Amino acid sequence: MFSVINPATEEVVTTVPSTSLEQTDEAIARSHEALKTWREVTPGDRANLLRRFSDIVRAHEDELALLEVVNSGHTIGNARWEVNNIANVLQYYSGSPERLFGRQIPVPGGIDMTFKEPVGVVGVIVPWNFPMPIAGWGLAPALAAGCTVVLKPAEVTPLTAIRIGELALEAGIPENVLQVLPGKGSVVGQRFVDHELVRKVVFTGSTQVGQGIMEGCAKQIKAVTLELGGKSANIVFADSDLEKAAASAPGGVFDNAGQDCCARSRILVERKAYDRFMELLEPAVKNFVCGDPNDTKTDMGPLITKAQLESVKSFVPDGAPIAFQGTAPTGKGNWFPPTVLTGTEADRAYREEIFGPVVVVVPFEDEADAIRMANDSEYGLSGSIWTRDIGRGIRVARGVETGNLSVNSHSSVRYWTPFGGYKKSGLGRELGPDAVDAFTETKNVFISTED
Ligand code: NAP
Ligand code: MG
Repeated sequence: MFSVINPATEEVVTTVPSTSLEQTDEAIARSHEALKTWREVTPGDRANLLRRFSDIVRAHEDELALLEVVNSGHTIGNARWEVNNIANVLQYYSGSPERLFGRQIPVPGGIDMTFKEPVGVVGVIVPWNFPMPIAGWGLAPALAAGCTVVLKPAEVTPLTAIRIGELALEAGIPENVLQVLPGKGSVVGQRFVDHELVRKVVFTGSTQVGQGIMEGCAKQIKAVTLELGGKSANIVFADSDLEKAAASAPGGVFDNAGQDCCARSRILVERKAYDRFMELLEPAVKNFVCGDPNDTKTDMGPLITKAQLESVKSFVPDGAPIAFQGTAPTGKGNWFPPTVLTGTEADRAYREEIFGPVVVVVPFEDEADAIRMANDSEYGLSGSIWTRDIGRGIRVARGVETGNLSVNSHSSVRYWTPFGGYKKSGLGRELGPDAVDAFTETKNVFISTED
């Protein structure tokens, strides 16, 4: 049994049984059995089922959003967006079953064609920071490809995933095609890696755990997609709309209390605009409302756990170079205020992923310096570039080694565009038009036309 705690109040919300190793094996066996029929469901029927699934999720927006508020401390506005994200992802990939095209390739003496076949049972391992969207990015294209799915939510945030598993059945998705198995990573998640009948693992989480998963999958030459950590740069040039860049910078890093792999947790500012930018940033940070996630005026809620709070605090020790800080509630709950540090490229807060509401602002000299600094990281997930010079915007976007960049914006995630990381931020891409391919094997068949 696991006690689910509301991170804003520290109250126990409910208890959830933890799936054992034996139960995980049984679920994988059922998933493998269900694959035989699910892969044979006609493309049109599979598409309709996914559309129904999407509709039912959307019809439960209030319930699912409120569950995420109490389980994860997400603001109600974010939680509603997250419900709609998984509904949209299901809707988007419901267009895939009838479009899983093979190719016909010219060859002598016959016809050659390819088929995209489901890879098999897929194990999806989800972190606690975006329980609904990240579950959806794995399960929706997998189901569309004709795979069956066993899904492990993070131990601390299982509630929306469990409910979504129930809604799948209500939508008519057959039994055992999608099974949600709450429990420990070291038990359930590890079993997805070790069990021969799971043919692909989709993992989102820390780089450290991701490395272990890749090693484990290597033993069976098992396909793996990894979405890992980040230390993304928000690069602000002096020629940009500084008011807009400063006003939007807090949202680019403090959204979801900074517990976002795409958080722009390093702000690099061209030296000649540094003082002006800091002047503009201060009120934006101070007005970033940290508080009750149920209040629609709140911009960010608490951190997920006490352990996460302690980890974030370690980046802001006594004597840390704090430029300014917002406010946060005191008393019960895992609260930490939006915090802006100055510092150098050598600082731990500048180099390591914090996964909390802490950002470091450091000046740069010129375009080449900005690219060098952005790339001086083991990570490469996201980033932003602020400039009025379009040529420079494109040059810098091409120069920064990350998977998702935005110019004069902080958006990284659209379900219809590809998402994923360079370097230690990950392997493979999710979302976008090609995500279903990652859940298929390509089969090539040659038919002789000789007499
Ligand atoms: P984590 O500790 O790596 O856990 C992620 C998931 O893996 C959880 O469900 C966890 O289960 C499970 N897990 C743990 N050990 C495992 C093992 N040995 N085998 C299989 N599964 C295992 O990460 P987290 O602390 O939840 O999330 C924070 C991290 O995720 C950050 O570093 C962040 O950058 C990264 N992240 C990346 C992205 C992206 O798209 N690139 C998105 C979100 C988060 P338990 O719940 O039992 O621990
Ligand atoms: Mg962890």
